[in-house]
Amino acid sequence: MKLFNNNNARAPISLNIARAILDSEVFAFAITDQFFNILEISANFKALLAPETDSVVGLPLQEALWEFMGTESELTAVLHDQRPKFQLQHINRTLPDGSTGYLNFEITKQRLNNQQAGLFLLIQDQTELGVAHQQLTQQKNTLYLLRNEIDKTNQTLTQTLNIKEVFLSMAAHDMRNPLSAIMGYASLLLSANGVQEPQARDEMLHSIIEQSKHLDFLINDLVTVDKLNNGQLHLQIKPSDVGDILTKTIEALGSNIQKKDLIVRLILPPSPLVIPVDPQRFWQVSYNLLSNSVKYTPDGGVIEIKAYTTDEHLIVQISDNGMGISQENIARLFNLHYRTANAKQSKISGAGIGLYIVKTIVEAHKGDIFVESYLGKGSTFTIELPK
Ligand code: ADP
Repeated sequence: MKLFNNNNARAPISLNIARAILDSEVFAFAITDQFFNILEISANFKALLAPETDSVVGLPLQEALWEFMGTESELTAVLHDQRPKFQLQHINRTLPDGSTGYLNFEITKQRLNNQQAGLFLLIQDQTELGVAHQQLTQQKNTLYLLRNEIDKTNQTLTQTLNIKEVFLSMAAHDMRNPLSAIMGYASLLLSANGVQEPQARDEMLHSIIEQSKHLDFLINDLVTVDKLNNGQLHLQIKPSDVGDILTKTIEALGSNIQKKDLIVRLILPPSPLVIPVDPQRFWQVSYNLLSNSVKYTPDGGVIEIKAYTTDEHLIVQISDNGMGISQENIARLFNLHYRTANAKQSKISGAGIGLYIVKTIVEAHKGDIFVESYLGKGSTFTIELPK
């Protein structure tokens, strides 16, 4: 296609056909000189692109169409045959009727009738295609988001299933110990050649009761975690004697304490510490913390439980001189199922759920829990609850 000037009568037939096509609604064109000043525009150019302007003829292309601002180097490259064409695609433009149009701009080099080089700008209205394209992109995005959601849900589901699986196997493992002790003692007591001596029988019966309590405690923890996971933990807060709960916790762990020859000190203020807490949950907190101190402190060790109030808080501190926890492990201590390598190696049984429960219950009381611990030296767990 060769474009000479805007005198149709003297233009070649091919150009007239070209002009007829270009004057259709879908295409518009403009011709510029070597300085990018517009020499000629098609009939529909103004309607499509510059309805407000008197005439864009004579204006530099970059001024007539904002899309070409800052494109001088590309236009020059086309003019000097350094690139065959320059295209701007899917340009979003507000059309004279206020709707949004999608236009393609294509710049190629043209020889003008004075043999000088100029540029030919072909504009293609792709609005219908553009809208379809945009809708497609939107649908793709929606699908993409949906797929992401499904992926995330799948991941959470897999994680939950994994957690439940690990949780159940650990819980089962933890429960087997007290259960086999109960079964062992009961079988001995029932057997024909069983224990006859009343004192020994009493001790075994006590052990059965203790192991049953431990089992009950483990089941209680399991139920609590399940409730926590389902957001069903509801506190029943009422004024409770915290000192009394701590004393009962020590009693509940009495035989474990005796077996390991541990020294346990309880330090309370002279008057009762009556604080609004959920007594059952607070018991769970103190039992978990104290049973950890008992578990992770070697025979003959010392455990100290101290409770007191400040102006705003109840403070409970449980310290031991046991195996302790390294600084890098402290941060992960309250994660569900987390156990330190030391604890695992020591063959001390545990499921890594106690501290998770403790932290959640303390936070449900709008309180806080802190740990200070040194490997091989011991640990102090401090709970701070609002009065
Ligand atoms: P479990 O004791 O059943 O493993 P917990 O959630 O109660 O689970 O404790 C998580 C881990 O924190 C334990 O496995 C142990 O590694 C560490 N830990 C907790 N309390 C103590 C403590 N008093 N001394 C040393 N390590 C402790």
